Amino acid sequence: MKNSEKKDIRALTKEQLRDFFVSEGEKAFRGNQVYEWLWQKSAHTFEDMTNLSKELRQKLDDNFAINHINIDKQQRSKDGTIKNAVKLHDDFVVESVMIPVQSRTTACVSSQVGCSLDCKFCATAKLKRLRNLNPDEIYDQVVAIDKQSRIYNNRPLSNIVFMGMGEPLMNYNNVLKSIEKITSPEGLHMSPRRITVSTSGVPKMIKKLADDQVKFNLAVSLHSARNEVRTQIMPFNARFPLEDLRESLEYWYEKTNKRVTYEYIVWKGINDTQQDIDALIDFCNAIPCKVNIIEYNPIDEDQFVQGSDTAIASYMTQLENAGITATLRHSRGKDIDAACGQLANKSSLD
Ligand code: SF4
Repeated sequence: MKNSEKKDIRALTKEQLRDFFVSEGEKAFRGNQVYEWLWQKSAHTFEDMTNLSKELRQKLDDNFAINHINIDKQQRSKDGTIKNAVKLHDDFVVESVMIPVQSRTTACVSSQVGCSLDCKFCATAKLKRLRNLNPDEIYDQVVAIDKQSRIYNNRPLSNIVFMGMGEPLMNYNNVLKSIEKITSPEGLHMSPRRITVSTSGVPKMIKKLADDQVKFNLAVSLHSARNEVRTQIMPFNARFPLEDLRESLEYWYEKTNKRVTYEYIVWKGINDTQQDIDALIDFCNAIPCKVNIIEYNPIDEDQFVQGSDTAIASYMTQLENAGITATLRHSRGKDIDAACGQLANKSSLD
């Protein structure tokens, strides 16, 4: 059987692996051993599973494939940020980024090949959505960045943001399954409090997160609290207007008691007026929140230009005066197109 025709072994639960061995006349605990190799030890081949006999390894190889990701290309920025071109088993490429800041290392991971949405300021939006990533493909990005952090920063990975390519809530089940593995003692055993899922704001799915009582953090790429402006820059806002988003966030807070982070870029002539600031403050009053004002990184042929220092300062001061925590975020890895909104497979198109 060709590798592409074999079943991905990491789509199996531990129980299913145990059942496989029993059906082959073997002891069930072999399933536990294989599960440990796959998730805790991140084995890339069956050959690596040295506590299994040669025959058993062959049996696994005859039946299954390990669709591991491969880091095709790694670019290191002057500030220590690393952008990875991640090749999937079917040759699609996504990107992930390791961001070292002081004592922390954050992994920014992708959840889809391309994106289902069409934000005008985002490089990924130029690629239509080709497919969702599987839980193991998301997990592998995290494991790879954890290794890079140990090599380059002498410390393990500390935080994860789902802010790479794709809209994570449009790949809901796989994203949640990957987080289950990342937080499980049989995986990386990371605290969910160190994980942030960043969405462009799909109200129905935000409510689902609340119903599912997730323990990780939620961030929303807001960029405008006025429908007429937001629809221009994030056209799906016409389908999911701010009123619905606000209602879903109220629901989130009621169910989880967790505040939300709003990601916000200020652009010249788009959202830099007093009316925009007033609308944001009003939106922020819905539930406890904080605002990250993010530096903008122009993408090619761009009509978007970052707002003036005065406009940004005006946002910061007025948010603070209104009792809303606001942080100014400088982008990292700009020289390698690894900054927010710049992930668009350039490494694979070179
Ligand atoms: S900003 Fe996020 S949701 Fe919008 S197009 Fe880019 S990747 Fe997709």
